[in-house]
Amino acid sequence: MNSSLPDPMRVAVLGVTGSIGRSTLDVLRRHPQRYRLVGVSAHRRSPELFDICREFHPLVAVTAGPEEAAALAERLAAGGERTEVAHGRSALERLASHAQVDAVMAAIVGAAGLASTLAAVRAGKRVLLANKEALVLAGSLFMEAVKAHGACLLPIDSEHNAVFQCMPAAPQAGVALGRGIRRILLTGSGGPFRTLAREALRGVTPERACAHPTWKMGPKISVDSATMVNKALEIIEAHWLFSAPAERIEVVIHPQSVIHSMVEYDDGSVLAQLGQPDMRTPIAQALAFPERIEAGVPSLDLPAIASLTFERPDFERFPALRIAYEVLRSGGSAAAVFSAANEIAVEAFLAGQLPFAEIESVIEETLQRMPLERITDLEHLLGLDERARAGAWATVAARARA
Ligand code: NAD
Ligand code: MG
Repeated sequence: MNSSLPDPMRVAVLGVTGSIGRSTLDVLRRHPQRYRLVGVSAHRRSPELFDICREFHPLVAVTAGPEEAAALAERLAAGGERTEVAHGRSALERLASHAQVDAVMAAIVGAAGLASTLAAVRAGKRVLLANKEALVLAGSLFMEAVKAHGACLLPIDSEHNAVFQCMPAAPQAGVALGRGIRRILLTGSGGPFRTLAREALRGVTPERACAHPTWKMGPKISVDSATMVNKALEIIEAHWLFSAPAERIEVVIHPQSVIHSMVEYDDGSVLAQLGQPDMRTPIAQALAFPERIEAGVPSLDLPAIASLTFERPDFERFPALRIAYEVLRSGGSAAAVFSAANEIAVEAFLAGQLPFAEIESVIEETLQRMPLERITDLEHLLGLDERARAGAWATVAARARA
């Protein structure tokens, strides 16, 4: 190897078999000199994990349970691979904070990714944050850890990555606003039901809810986009990432998904980041920051797009947005309960146990039932998450009986 080349950045991808995980691998593949995949994790699909290990030869692979780990270890050993296989939460946290890892892509979906994402932050890594639920759940705990441990937190969510790119030269997320910024404008496509009447949402099937008009994503975030809970989570995410008060964060519906978000300054300037709706752009931006690398994303053909349109969000048809602002006003445990209840409601909907149009009611009922708490530490938060999930399941069951 040419000795003048810098050492490659050693990357761990948590949730490597998911939509974000696969897009990350696609970017890494384009830059073998620059990045080395040293750690991977997946929940279940170990055949896919096996193929990834065969291609990238990571040091460590983590699965959820012992059976998947044993099956993977056996196949890897038979193929002469030396990847160490581990399983469970503590193995995931060890990988996220491993001394031979420089950057962690946090791409597990939901609260399941919280402890490992926080472990990466506490180990002072470059943390590429796709797992928005982790930040929504842990909020101040998370951002305090970023500061205390000098982690470099870089948003992967396309909106927050866009905001980050439109900010004044900030060394990393967590330092913002107050420097001449008037508003953060989060764009949203409006999801597959943007123009549907509330009553028409009653019969929505999981298949229809997962068919997003502009983005290809995992099932949970696809349903979140259809209810606009995704945008609600993103309002809370922006609040923490950019220390922005709720009243400085606004949502603009933009069906073409070309402008990924904007920052408005005190002098009236509005800076926007544009691009294809392709997650490889924010992934590459965060991997290479402050440099730029090829991501395999084609150029925008603006004349072909011809027009960009914008609408105000409808808080009546999409109550999740209203709930997000209420949650931010409440503070404390409200955001964690919001996210936990939503995860259960989405799971119940995907399993055919809850009508689509009742997802927000399950969230609101769970929020009403659980008194506000001040989050003290991770264990408290994980316990709260469990209780909120149990509460949300009880609400789902009561609705099924009604
Ligand atoms: P996905 O469902 O496609 O993949 C999830 C990954 O997490 C898989 O590798 C799965 O094996 C793993 N996983 C699931 N449950 C787990 C558990 N209990 N323990 C350990 N691992 C588990 O999801 P996705 O669409 O890639 O989204 C991942 C995260 O990125 C989510 O938080 C989502 O909100 C966020 N995000 C995704 C997109 C997108 O375009 N897909 C865009 C912005 C943000
Ligand atoms: Mg997003």
